[in-house]
Amino acid sequence: MIGIGSAFAKANLHKILRFVNSIFTTDMKHLFFTSITALFLYSTAVAQENRLAQKQPNTAEIYHQMEKLGFLGTVLYVAAHPDDENTRLISWLANDQMARTAYLSLTRGDGGQNLIGPQLREQLGMIRTQELLEARNTDGGLQFFTRANDFGYSKHPEETLEIWNEQEVMEDMVRIIREFQPDVIINRFNHRTPGSTHGHHTSSAMLSMKVFDFAADKTIYASQLKELETWQAQRIFFNTSWWFYGSEEAFEKADKTNLIELDAGTYYPYKGLSNSEIAALSRSKHQSQGFGSSGSRGSQTEYLEYLKGSFPTDKSDLFSGINTTWTRVKGGSSILPLLNSILANYDFKNPTASIPALLEMRAQIEKLKDEHWKKIKLEELDQIILDLAGVYLEASVNTPSATAGESLRVNIELTNRSSEKFKVSLLPNQLIQIEEKELRLNENDTKTIEATLNIPPYYEASTPYYLKEKGSLGMYQFKNKSLTGKPEKGPEFIVRTFIELQGTRLYREFPIIHKRTDPVRGEVNEPFYIVPEVAVSLENPVYVFSGTTPQPVQVTIKANKDLPKGSLELCYPEDWSITPTNFNFKRLEKGEKKNYTFNVQPPKKASRGVISALVKIGSQTFKQEVINIDYDHIPDQQLVRDNESQVVNPGLINTAQTIAYINGAGDDVAQAIEAIGGNVFKFEPSEVPDDLSKYDAVVVGIRAYNVAKEDMAALQNRLEPYVKNGGTLMMQYNTNRGISQNDLGPLPITLSRKRVTDENATVTILEPQHKIMSYPNAINPTDFEGWVQERGLYFPEQWDAAFTPILGMSDKNEKMTKGSLIVAEYGKGHIIYTGLSLFRELPAGVSGAYKLLANMISIGVGTPSIKNKDGQTKL
Ligand SMILES: [Zn+2]
Repeated sequence: MIGIGSAFAKANLHKILRFVNSIFTTDMKHLFFTSITALFLYSTAVAQENRLAQKQPNTAEIYHQMEKLGFLGTVLYVAAHPDDENTRLISWLANDQMARTAYLSLTRGDGGQNLIGPQLREQLGMIRTQELLEARNTDGGLQFFTRANDFGYSKHPEETLEIWNEQEVMEDMVRIIREFQPDVIINRFNHRTPGSTHGHHTSSAMLSMKVFDFAADKTIYASQLKELETWQAQRIFFNTSWWFYGSEEAFEKADKTNLIELDAGTYYPYKGLSNSEIAALSRSKHQSQGFGSSGSRGSQTEYLEYLKGSFPTDKSDLFSGINTTWTRVKGGSSILPLLNSILANYDFKNPTASIPALLEMRAQIEKLKDEHWKKIKLEELDQIILDLAGVYLEASVNTPSATAGESLRVNIELTNRSSEKFKVSLLPNQLIQIEEKELRLNENDTKTIEATLNIPPYYEASTPYYLKEKGSLGMYQFKNKSLTGKPEKGPEFIVRTFIELQGTRLYREFPIIHKRTDPVRGEVNEPFYIVPEVAVSLENPVYVFSGTTPQPVQVTIKANKDLPKGSLELCYPEDWSITPTNFNFKRLEKGEKKNYTFNVQPPKKASRGVISALVKIGSQTFKQEVINIDYDHIPDQQLVRDNESQVVNPGLINTAQTIAYINGAGDDVAQAIEAIGGNVFKFEPSEVPDDLSKYDAVVVGIRAYNVAKEDMAALQNRLEPYVKNGGTLMMQYNTNRGISQNDLGPLPITLSRKRVTDENATVTILEPQHKIMSYPNAINPTDFEGWVQERGLYFPEQWDAAFTPILGMSDKNEKMTKGSLIVAEYGKGHIIYTGLSLFRELPAGVSGAYKLLANMISIGVGTPSIKNKDGQTKL
């Protein structure tokens, strides 16, 4: 990690700036400025605390920070997802033990569900990254990630490690360990029980056990050793609890020889909070997962099971036997008495009085040779001195974004909130021009100065660094190794300064932010982003077509600066057709948005492809879209990527025309039915009409029997006669929790937890002659290709003899399950229950899923003459 607040950085800063100047006029500008933002990243510690506006700690908090200067120990907590981490233990390590503590989440949690909005996949990962940063800002930890992608549920580490690139994940873990240098590693999960929990969980523990040794081996990931040194952590634990033993009784009886017990129930007077209260505040940051949590008070026991390394000499102290004092640093023994005297003399009413002694201690630390602890402690110490001196630095612009090549005014506020006089030297460069470069600030002085930010014309639009390149199913990809582990690349632009007080110069940098006053929220500070000159976006990610019926496709262009005339066109697959071929637009003003509608027509035969919209202005082309993710609990996020949507003509026949859809927990299946020509009427379970006879099929949304059990039970006496008289009842997956065999439709079905998580698992068509496999569309093995995330979940394991199981499938090394799709004739009608993940496959445009859907809703309708939505005869 490149820490700028250190002696190393100070010495090199001028060199670096000279380097910038010398290289600025060369062709490498573009390349260089991409890397300079990375080069001038905040050090990890500072970046994660001061991501936006500066927060001034109070006198008690500063005292606590000073206490921390005396502890030289490091802990790395390892798990797989945002929310796996034990915030109580992390908070206790950071605040009670005062250890440098970090949570390494192998993934960003993209595969989960979003309880607060529509974002999924990489956008959900962006939200969870920010939620983890907020959590760490609350509990005092730092945050790391690897390139591993949360691709969805995985039963077994074997599957996980086939989809992740195991070597790359370990390479990242080893790099993080070699940089962070933890004395202790703590796994959240048990590495010895594959199959008992999410495969990602077990994998995180298994890999952690391996990299504990690998980081110390100079033959492993040797190329890292050009910049880093090998590192051997002293010991590794598993953060166990009774839960991992099955019951409290079983845990009670278990052999605890290898367990150490810690009381994590500390109360912190300087915060006015108990450790568990902080842990709850931290956990409650996981809003997208609905993990709001209440705090508790009093004693709280945490158990750590010793796995490897040296056993603690004292079972009540996880660091025992490891030197965590200044004496671990060569020449550092003189620091501790200085610190103790500073702490003893600290005046809570006049904290600024500690500055001279701290500066003296700083001079001592600067003389030390150890680069690791010296850098860390100088960074912490400089922050404390600046806080004691009441140094407030803020740079803001009044717009959330700008385009490359723009120049805009930056307001810089410098304030002295103490009795300590200091001088601020602002360090301008080609990007940030400042007229007044040196200012003296006396007690309670505040100065506002103007600067100009000149964004280079080749500057890239802001987007998460790990999303710039296309990754694989299991891995993100990026080239810049120095970003390994980092949650985000940090602010686009920073102002650099030296603060001079009592003859010592301290380096400090602060971000240019977007500051505004919101009528409801008050002062709001958000990141400042670079946007493309024109943003071009398509309305939907997937367009599904029914027959050759054309569909309107809306394209929105937004001018992010004043633009001359240009044109808009759509790129599309060869066998498709589009009208018009392009639109011309006149001058667009900054901020102007325009919508254009193309008519897209699929070919007769089944076909799929990609469309994308392109804006041409003069010789330039633009195709980036800007996605904003705005929630109050995290900083606004921006994703910039090339626009692209899928167009799919499954080439299917659908004979069902009128469908009743009973809403469940929420899915987009009703839209999918409309896309293939069905006329859908949506109902809440409590509002389903008495007479269902006019509907060709009644489709029940996912988990409807879980979320509206009583209303669904009350529907039974309407659904039963409906089916008996020739209707089709199609039920999608429910979890087995609280559902008994007579709850689901007129015939008994017993649900299980059986699922097939491998989306490529082989599917055996058990009943190829069955109507549902042949009418109106012939289903064949290719229809199970290209599925996403999984095959299905919570499959029935027992069913009434009237049902016929249609498909067989299984995950690797497991027995075939036959409950993914079962169909029964009932009276004149049909009952279908399916745990297939149609709710995932249909929005993803999977053709085979559309054909299956069409057959399910069409099973009881029309033969041989078949009509589509427009009344055209199809056969
Ligand atoms: Zn998890």
